[in-house]
Amino acid sequence: MSSIHVMAKPSSSKCNIDCEYCFYLEKEKLYPDASDFRMSDEVLEAYISQTISQQKGKKHYEFSWQGGEPTLLGLDFFKKALQLQRNLAGSTPCVNSLQTNGILLNTEWAEFLAKHRFLVGVSIDGNQQHHDTYRKTRTGKGTHERVLKAINLLKRHKVEFNAMVVVHQANVHDPLGVYNALKSYGIHHIQLTPLVERQAREIPDDNLILVSPAYSAAADVARWSVGAKEYGQFLCDLFDAWKARDFGKIFIYNFESTLTMKAGLPGNSCITAETCGNAVALESNGDVYSCDHFVYPEHKLGNIMAEPLAELAESQQLKTFGLNKKSDRSVDCNDCRFLSICNGGCPKHRFLISSDGQRNKNYLCDAYKMYFSHTEKFMDFVLSKLN
Ligand code: SF4
Ligand code: SF4
Repeated sequence: MSSIHVMAKPSSSKCNIDCEYCFYLEKEKLYPDASDFRMSDEVLEAYISQTISQQKGKKHYEFSWQGGEPTLLGLDFFKKALQLQRNLAGSTPCVNSLQTNGILLNTEWAEFLAKHRFLVGVSIDGNQQHHDTYRKTRTGKGTHERVLKAINLLKRHKVEFNAMVVVHQANVHDPLGVYNALKSYGIHHIQLTPLVERQAREIPDDNLILVSPAYSAAADVARWSVGAKEYGQFLCDLFDAWKARDFGKIFIYNFESTLTMKAGLPGNSCITAETCGNAVALESNGDVYSCDHFVYPEHKLGNIMAEPLAELAESQQLKTFGLNKKSDRSVDCNDCRFLSICNGGCPKHRFLISSDGQRNKNYLCDAYKMYFSHTEKFMDFVLSKLN
């Protein structure tokens, strides 16, 4: 039986802020009749018991809470979730991770997260200017100051956390500014996500303006997205700064992942894996989609209240979705010397024209080539010392 990772979204796309670039806020349009977007006790219990059954045999069970903004459910919801885990997991430990914008975190939350050893991802895009350009409240105010308060709270309570940094038009030209800001906030673990979205010119049938690569009508790259060469330069400059002063002290997941893959081991990101299909998204009503970045009607696998996760994990639809990453790769990837550490990148970003005329070239291909070429000498040197 395949074991899959589930990103649970207990508040669906609901969020207490209004980031201009968010790809998930509009997913509420998929549920026009929903009266609220809170995961019910029944769905919560099904998620926990089915996750445990389909991860049977693992050293620990993994639970991942994302959004929207999962803290909107309140602390009592998470206390209930942990109680269910204790009741159902037997002696196997449960590991919880939570991705948050940090706004609602207070002392009570921090104590809870520390006590139960949550791994917390906090969204922060650099200094105030980088962050507040897009990460705003509903009334248009920046959120940086409140996020910094949350980070200080997590540090005081010794909660393990990492910074989830979106790279976009407001910070891509200032990699050192982003890096120095994060370091000055006492952040030691950093995960970078390049922002690439396409906006349909006409409203599509499913009403979702931010479209998947399969959308063939007119669409434009959203103005907050990075350009490929800009992102490549960002990675190269950041890598040089990290290598010069912080190698072994600051952990940048993207760099660690390349190193691990060059050593012939699986990386820590799905983006560079050979296939997809190991991480599904769970909406608050129990609907499951093939991936957090493919929450579109055609990628819905089913609902856990009707079909258990174990069945959905084995479904042909998910297997096909996963294998398509490899079989639908651009022909240009086949001759690329970085194929084994790139694997053609995320299918969400494959919408440029390849040399055979197919629309499956990765928009970030130029970024990846710049980054892999620039870093390979140092990565090879590090690996030679480890062998
Ligand atoms: S589609 Fe992209 S985000 Fe989803 S699993 Fe595949 S590589 Fe990861
Ligand atoms: S760098 Fe470009 S051509 Fe090479 S494997 Fe990655 S996406 Fe394909």
